[in-house]
Amino acid sequence: MTSQSLLLRTALALFFAAVQPAFGQVAGSGEVNDSRQNLIRAYPEMLERVDGDDLLFRDGTRLPFGGRQKDRPFEAWLAAPTLDDIFALPYPTGDLVPPAKNQDPGRARPAQLFDKMYGDCRKGEVEQHLTTIRWLPRKANQPLRVTRINGVDRKLAAISTELDALPKRFDVYLHPVAGTYACRVIAGTDRPSAHGHGIAIDIALKHAHYWRWSKASPDGTLEWRNAIPIEIVRIFEKHGFIWGGRWYHYDTMHFEYRPELLP
Ligand SMILES: [Zn+2]
Repeated sequence: MTSQSLLLRTALALFFAAVQPAFGQVAGSGEVNDSRQNLIRAYPEMLERVDGDDLLFRDGTRLPFGGRQKDRPFEAWLAAPTLDDIFALPYPTGDLVPPAKNQDPGRARPAQLFDKMYGDCRKGEVEQHLTTIRWLPRKANQPLRVTRINGVDRKLAAISTELDALPKRFDVYLHPVAGTYACRVIAGTDRPSAHGHGIAIDIALKHAHYWRWSKASPDGTLEWRNAIPIEIVRIFEKHGFIWGGRWYHYDTMHFEYRPELLP
């Protein structure tokens, strides 16, 4: 071997050692691969399979999973997550526990995925898929507009039936509903809200707690607050809706259809 080629090989070895962590995240560990399958299982009508590092839709569309961006600052990460980032923070079910700092499972919503599935409301692509369900037909009979895509309307109707059968003491949390479909961005950001995809519902404004309404302590930490009973949360979660009360940046009236986080 000439000294020149030895030098070249050494340089190449050093280069690959330096870039290894980035490629390692894209290639995916066992956990990353498992979570990719959760996405396929969650949306069987829409998604075909995992193909290498791409998500393949039944209509032939391909989206890159993109790897997990572990080291980005939290706000920047939230603003432009990859598909793999959906699963970076596990969604806890079970008893109510104040979430640790920046534990916001489900707040990372890659627009490329949700716009592809439900449409972009700013382009008028969401409304054509909306349908009206009757919320708590026995107790309230309030018309609510949600998307038909992925069976979200049927899931919310099933939730409504179960909530309608709860004892009277739960009623104050369940109606009137504050809102479902709304083409808007998340307060204080330029990111589209899950409400613009027709997959979200806000219950009980009067009993809601929202992190933007509360004052952080001097060291910047938020004190988690909630009045929504766990019985209500469990019914939503059973049907694939995650709850904003499980977030450090809590939004306790908010539920959205995210079955990939509730395998
Ligand atoms: Zn909401």
